[in-house]
Amino acid sequence: MQLTNRSKAVNRDPMTFSESLYIPGLLKGMATTVGHIFKKKATVSYPEETRPFSPVFRGLHILNRDEEGREKCTACGLCALSCPAEAITMEAAERLPGEEHLYREEKYAAKYEINMLRCIFCGFCEEACPKDAIYLTQSIPPPNYDRETFIYKKDDLLLPAKTDAQERAAEGDPTPLQP
Ligand code: SF4
Ligand code: SF4
Repeated sequence: MQLTNRSKAVNRDPMTFSESLYIPGLLKGMATTVGHIFKKKATVSYPEETRPFSPVFRGLHILNRDEEGREKCTACGLCALSCPAEAITMEAAERLPGEEHLYREEKYAAKYEINMLRCIFCGFCEEACPKDAIYLTQSIPPPNYDRETFIYKKDDLLLPAKTDAQERAAEGDPTPLQP
């Protein structure tokens, strides 16, 4: 059965004298190679070079904080449930008295992991999140030979908390932080 119309019949005729010399075939191959030297390269030297991404590109995730620097995630698990690749795992914990400045909700993710080797960057986790806690950014996980490094832990995903100096600068106070 023929699946496409691109198949070619194999020529089984005996080689001619010039074909048996292989020189014309070699020259033809060299001409093709040399012709490509002067063409614009179709590839880039990743990771030193990268191509600009589309504005709608979805890359590495971040776990967001609120305007007071508290973790927004309430470990509801909706992102993990909606993940078609089953790439998200988490463990919930209850916020203790005195931790209100760390976690916005009464429950928070004590452990939150995304396996970037399973993730297909579909963005369903971002869509499912009722707390605006998870976002996909425009960066991609850096290459590595170690599979373990592609399991991003909560510390890798969580947006860094603002320092005192940054907070003061945001409030318009230019005084540098005292050591
Ligand atoms: S982007 Fe898609 S595949 Fe990746 S963690 Fe989110 S829901 Fe799962
Ligand atoms: S990131 Fe959002 S959806 Fe996922 S557990 Fe946290 S609050 Fe729920």
